[in-house]
Amino acid sequence: RGGIPIVMIVAALVPEMGIGLKGKMPWRLKNEMAYFRKVTTTTTDNEAINAVIMGRKTWQSIPEKFRPLPKRLNIVLSRSQHENDGDDAVLFCTSLEEALSKAKKYSKPVEKIFIMGGGELYNQAYNSGQVGHLLLTEIRANKEVETDTRIEFPVYGDQSTWIRQPHSALQELVGGEVEEQQLQEGDFTYGFAYFKKK
Ligand code: NDP
Repeated sequence: RGGIPIVMIVAALVPEMGIGLKGKMPWRLKNEMAYFRKVTTTTTDNEAINAVIMGRKTWQSIPEKFRPLPKRLNIVLSRSQHENDGDDAVLFCTSLEEALSKAKKYSKPVEKIFIMGGGELYNQAYNSGQVGHLLLTEIRANKEVETDTRIEFPVYGDQSTWIRQPHSALQELVGGEVEEQQLQEGDFTYGFAYFKKK
C-alpha cells in the first residue's frame, strides 16, 4: 500500500459508535478539538501540507468564520456542482475518487489525506477499501447521550479488519507528542487510539 496515507479521523462514543446529533457533534471537547487540529495540521516536511476531505453537511456544520480549516487543503464532497473559485483553499468535488485524485495532484506536496466525516463519508470511505489508518477518539459518557449518526463498520470484534497499534505508532504517524492518558471533560472520558487496516 505505498503512496500518501489515507487516514480516517473520528471521535465516537464507544462501543455504539455514535458521532453526531442533528447536524452537530453530540459533545464539545476542547482538548479533542485541539488534538484534531494538531494531527490534521502537522507535517514532518515543512514544504508539505495535509488534506482534509469532508462531506457537505460536515462543512456546513463548521461556523463560517472557522472555515476553510487553516493550513490544510480543504476538500468538500457534494453531488451537486459548486463553484471552485480560483482561490483553492477549498475544493469542491463530486466523488471520493475525484477528491483523492485532486489531493494527489495538488500544487504542493500532500503528506497525508484525512477523511474527517461525517457518517455518510466515513462509511463510504471504509467501503472503498482505500483507507489504511483509523484515528479513533474513544469516548465514554457517564450519562445517556443521544446520537443520530453512527459509524457502520466494525472496529472491534471478529469481523473487524482493524488492528490496534501501540501509542508509539500513533505518535510516529502524527509526527509529534500525543497524550497517552485518558482525558476528562465534563461528563466525558476519552482517549486517542490508532488502528491500522489488516
Ligand atoms: P456528511 O458530512 O457525511 O455529508 C453528507 C453529504 O456529503 C451528502 O449529502 C453529499 O452532499 C456529500 N457526499 C457524501 N458522499 C459523497 C460522494 N461520494 N460524492 C459526492 N458527495 C458526497 O453528513 P452526515 O449527516 O452523514 O454526517 C454529519 C454528522 O456527522 C454531523 O452531526 C456532524 O457533526 C457529525 N460529525 C462527527 C464527527 C466526529 O468525529 N464525531 C466528525 C465529522 C462530522 P450533497 O447533499 O450536497 O450532495
